[in-house]
Amino acid sequence: MTASIIDGRAMGMEVRAELREDVRLYTQEQRRAPALVIVRVGGDAASGVYSKAILRIADDVGVQARLEQLPEELSPDELRSLLIRLNNDKTVQGVIVQMPLPAHLSQRIVVDTLSAEKDIDGISAQSAGNLFLGVPSFLPSTAAAVMEILERTKTPLTGKRVVILGRSNVVGKPLSLMLLQKNATVTVCHSRTTNLSTVTQQADVLIAAVGCANMVTAEMVRPDATVIDVGINALLQGGIVGDVDFASVREVAGALTPTPGGVGPLTNVVLLKQCVQAAWQQVGGRGVHAYP
Ligand code: NAP
Repeated sequence: MTASIIDGRAMGMEVRAELREDVRLYTQEQRRAPALVIVRVGGDAASGVYSKAILRIADDVGVQARLEQLPEELSPDELRSLLIRLNNDKTVQGVIVQMPLPAHLSQRIVVDTLSAEKDIDGISAQSAGNLFLGVPSFLPSTAAAVMEILERTKTPLTGKRVVILGRSNVVGKPLSLMLLQKNATVTVCHSRTTNLSTVTQQADVLIAAVGCANMVTAEMVRPDATVIDVGINALLQGGIVGDVDFASVREVAGALTPTPGGVGPLTNVVLLKQCVQAAWQQVGGRGVHAYP
């Protein structure tokens, strides 16, 4: 039996349609659209691509988004001042700072300065602390996109064994806390984990967020498991693949996300969803979507 393929693009379109309606209600009620500012310092190529993708989706769902492009030589104090200005700007509901920042600007500046109520990518110290404590909070968007997939596919989590490959602050670590909240039994693996296959073979749900092309093979997967592939790896010969060897794993798994077309298309949509949630929260409402 081959796995059912989870269509992240179709799911992304479904969430966008819900968001469009949510934004319409907000705009009607508040007489202005929710507003998002993307802060980009310097000229990192990948962050330029992400910024454009976010602007496109914002435009599609009716969120008013603008890019604040700053010079590479911006000082730490100037970045701090900009974030404080955006924190206090009542016409702005959501802020994201594109990573990576130039080497002389520590991510810590953003983590410590960005106000939690506008931190729609869940990177501030307060958002991370809230997640740790199980208090509603904005979530890192890639991890939240994985949860969106698990929720929309009605994947059972209570009492299930979930194995996460990768322990980064933006994917593996926050996912482990979100899954604990859903009563899963969670194991987090990383580069020093020994006997990786023995661990992964126990997973009802296996999530790969490593950055190693095709490293998860069929032998590592329990028959009928749900496999979520977060990895995006560019091949020398062109094209991208995930961390999961799609061709072999689809023969074993029960459900599987493809790359491209799995987690990726949902990540920016979830970011916009959290922007709209932030906008509702700031006017004391809840909107269509439950707060995470
Ligand atoms: P990261 O910060 O580089 O973290 C990678 C993690 O994988 C680390 O915890 C590392 O362990 C672990 N790891 C490395 N090699 C391993 C191995 N052989 N076995 C087990 N664990 C291993 O990466 P990230 O930012 O979390 O991103 C992970 C992947 O997701 C990348 O391919 C990235 O491009 C992709 N991504 C996709 C999206 C999306 O929207 N779909 C968004 C963000 C990232 P140590 O901690 O021990 O070093």
